[in-house]
Amino acid sequence: LRATGQQQRDLVLVPASAHGTNAASAAGAGFSVTVVATAEDGSIDVDHLRELLAEYGQRVAAIMLTYPSTHGVFEPQVTEVTALVHDAGGQVYIDGANLNALTGLLRPGDLGGDVSHLNLHKTFAVPHGGGGPGVGPVVVKEHLAPYLPAGPAGSALPTDEDHDRGFGGAAAMGARFGSAGVMPLAWTYLATLTDADLRRVTLTALAHASYLSQALADVFPTLYTHRGHVAHECVLDLRALTAATGVTAEDVAKRLIDYGFHAPTLSFPVAGTLMVEPTESEPLTELDRFIAAMRSIRAEIDEVASGAVALEDSVLRRSPHTLAAVTAEPWKRPYSRATAAFPLAGMETDKYFPPVSRVDNAWGDRHLMCTCPPPDAFEAHEA
Ligand SMILES: *Cc1c(COP(=O)(O)O)cnc(C)c1O
Repeated sequence: LRATGQQQRDLVLVPASAHGTNAASAAGAGFSVTVVATAEDGSIDVDHLRELLAEYGQRVAAIMLTYPSTHGVFEPQVTEVTALVHDAGGQVYIDGANLNALTGLLRPGDLGGDVSHLNLHKTFAVPHGGGGPGVGPVVVKEHLAPYLPAGPAGSALPTDEDHDRGFGGAAAMGARFGSAGVMPLAWTYLATLTDADLRRVTLTALAHASYLSQALADVFPTLYTHRGHVAHECVLDLRALTAATGVTAEDVAKRLIDYGFHAPTLSFPVAGTLMVEPTESEPLTELDRFIAAMRSIRAEIDEVASGAVALEDSVLRRSPHTLAAVTAEPWKRPYSRATAAFPLAGMETDKYFPPVSRVDNAWGDRHLMCTCPPPDAFEAHEA
């Protein structure tokens, strides 16, 4: 913007459905952030976008959008959105976190994107989680190439020229703080697959998500669908069930651990929902095992709904169950040990027990605790 004399562009548009990292990145780079509303079907509210562009057009530096959206649907009007922003003189940043739904089918640039990042830990076989910093390429169209923080070939180190453009910090940070160890994994994944394979990976991920969404529709309806389908993830809406029974999405997430599942994304991007992203890598038996667990949990919720079980005493609210809890004497819960630990037939042979039961997540987040041993513990070892 400085190079083209457009310093007045100080605003970044971020859809309400975006991941928090988008608004945070824009703010971190010194921009103001304006939120674009969500339409009823979960996509970007194009009318609101038009209003914002009419009012702030000359100030708009970029829009940061996710495709398919975080609501788990392909937005049919995405190219209209990107064209509107381009017409107003803004750039389009496509959040690349959902590339698992695009790889082999289309490129972010085909949608009108000028910049995109690829989360190696979301698309290229690298496990998501651990809370560490991510690492991955940032790709741009040619007109932005001169502004990339390019170090010497094969190196992530910034050059003097980068410092002149003010990019040294970003490149240096990537090199010093990124989880470089994930790169060989992503590289190996890509090296062992052909383009046709990658396309099949994507189609499989899409099929898996719609399969789950449709198989659970009568017990946990999907919030946003297009013509009955979702993209690579589905937002299961528990809000009506919560209003009727008091059973929360968190109760379901915790109870899933008893069934041997790591909980899906909780209350994001919509509070009171579970977002399920099965990916391409689960076999049909595993998808069906998940569906069986969710249907069984729905039956447990129905017992609360009918008044047969009080919510506070329910196997849902008192989940997850550790091995210590299940073997405790005397057993004082209104459901059986078997219901707690082996809610589905066949679980006895392959049971995962969580190490802790329900904790107060918010309390834990607000009270940091250092578990490092004191320095003298190391001295004693050396001696
Ligand atoms: C996960 C995610 C991000 C953030 O990526 P991280 O590197 O995991 O922090 C950004 N946008 C969307 C849509 C995501 O799903």
